[in-house]
Amino acid sequence: MPNGYNGKILRVDLSDRRVWTEEPGEAAYRRYLGGGALALHYMLREMRPGGDPFGPENLLLFMTSVTNGFALSGLNRYSAAGKSPLTGGFGESEAGGWWGPELKAAGFDGIIVQGRAERPVYLWVCDGVAEVRDAGRYWGKLSDEVQAGLEEELGDRRIRVLQTGVAGERRVRFAALVNQLKHFHGRTGLGAVMGSKNLKAIAVRGHSKPEAADPEGARRVLKWFQEKYDRGSDPRHLWGTANGVQALDRDGILPTRNFREGSFEHAREVSGQTMANTILTDRGTCYACAVACKREVEVPELGVTSNLGGPEYETIAAVGSLAGVGDLKQIALANQLLGLYVLDSISTGATVAFAMECFENGLLKKAETDGLDLRFGNEEAVIALIHKIARREGIGDLLAEGVLRAAQRIGRGAERFAMHVKGQELPMHEPRGKRSLALAYATSPTGADHMEAPHDPFFEGLDPQGTSALASLGLLSPVGRMDLGPGKVRVYHYAQKVWSLYNAVGMCTFVGVPIGPVELNRLVDYVQAVTGWGVSLWELLKVAERSEAMARAFNCREGFTPKDDALPGRMFEGLENGALKGVGIDREEFRRALRLYYEMQGWDPETGFPTEARLAELDLTWVTGG
Ligand code: SF4
Repeated sequence: MPNGYNGKILRVDLSDRRVWTEEPGEAAYRRYLGGGALALHYMLREMRPGGDPFGPENLLLFMTSVTNGFALSGLNRYSAAGKSPLTGGFGESEAGGWWGPELKAAGFDGIIVQGRAERPVYLWVCDGVAEVRDAGRYWGKLSDEVQAGLEEELGDRRIRVLQTGVAGERRVRFAALVNQLKHFHGRTGLGAVMGSKNLKAIAVRGHSKPEAADPEGARRVLKWFQEKYDRGSDPRHLWGTANGVQALDRDGILPTRNFREGSFEHAREVSGQTMANTILTDRGTCYACAVACKREVEVPELGVTSNLGGPEYETIAAVGSLAGVGDLKQIALANQLLGLYVLDSISTGATVAFAMECFENGLLKKAETDGLDLRFGNEEAVIALIHKIARREGIGDLLAEGVLRAAQRIGRGAERFAMHVKGQELPMHEPRGKRSLALAYATSPTGADHMEAPHDPFFEGLDPQGTSALASLGLLSPVGRMDLGPGKVRVYHYAQKVWSLYNAVGMCTFVGVPIGPVELNRLVDYVQAVTGWGVSLWELLKVAERSEAMARAFNCREGFTPKDDALPGRMFEGLENGALKGVGIDREEFRRALRLYYEMQGWDPETGFPTEARLAELDLTWVTGG
């Protein structure tokens, strides 16, 4: 591996237990780099539109990147992808942890799984060899038992295990995937896709280290990082992703009670600072990352151990403020259950909050909730619903479908409480106070997604002197967070390319600019040093654009139109409390921003499909058979 990657993708057909290796060639690696971009390269070529996400025809893909497996902090994330059972469109979700680098050390840059096994199986990948094995004893088991069982069966505690949980086995539409019990591919329901294939886990182990084409160049970037980064003053290390809870509350944008409110009376009690002073026992990290933003907590009286880590911001808000729950220990318990069943905490919390609002408005009665009192703030009901959703028991069977389908079945206007875009539940960030999120949620190929671009407060720090982290993109004028005019559309459009690039190379958004310290030009230096390619920032950003255009094309092929680029009606209504009480998004301003964004992206205003010119410019004419 003298240029960072193995040049090999492992192919697996579960229907006949066949495994083989494919070599995409250097051009494909340079055009797509990895992550979602490399996954789309296969999905668009091999998947026919209209397929069943739970059918054997769906592909389940895992893609590392050309720079995974090296020592620069944050650069070891990888993507899972497939057709989403939640949205019916492009399903993709990144994770950190250890599994991606281990897969590369095992000799593969990615895995593509097709077909469906007759009985539960797992995949064992070790040093260039792959084998489909029986997993009957792990089916129906919680994630910690599966992890321990595979370590024992394979006789090696250093294997890395990626698995779907009980929720995935039961095809909960927002079931997640997890590696090493703590690192989640949370979104778009890919755990249910893996469950539908009767594939319980993929265990990997490898002993070959990737080598950089220019080791000295790679070392220079590492040295620069070590001199620049001070962990002792990084809020993400000190207080984790929940470090900003109180600031969000102060600004009136902490999603509360199903997005009715923006301020939560218990914000301080559930903050990262309170966690650090109470239940935190340690800080965890991903492969080779100095930031160590992950949390480990213990709550002995509730049986919460550090085995499954601790709650991130999204979980704290989703099963906390969004459900009106302000007890951090109960949130830690909910977090542990979400990990044991392997559920997406965002969609689970949003679905619980949806059910609570339906209950408070008389659309769900106790007879329909298995006797549960679903008033906001009832923490016992939240815990009970997590069990029920994961096992599809009683009311859980309805809620396991996600808010869009549940609302359709409940009827009587329940849709107005369903906070989703394209069927995926809203993450824990408030578009009414960070306006570019209105564009992000409405147009993301994965449905409502907060990982499309840095959020608006970063755009307020742009400056004409060019000292801001995004200045190398030519972004030199500050834009306010409440702005949704042409200036905001432009900065969002540019900044989105940075996030799309991070996805393709596997860079963590907490480590790259503008949140973290790694500058874009240093990232370019590192990609050059690892691969030996004379790439420029321009070329890398073209990969990002290519990835966005491919995802858009995938969704359009599946039947999505501009009508689907919409927000829940509540986003146009005023918040009920907090600093932004009474503030909603202006529909006309949103419509104009959307139209402008379409033009910047090169999307046809009628069909939503990338234009012929856009596809040609990105060397993607093959997408339409050209
Ligand atoms: S910053 Fe946190 S999530 Fe990102 S790579 Fe480091 S430990 Fe993992």
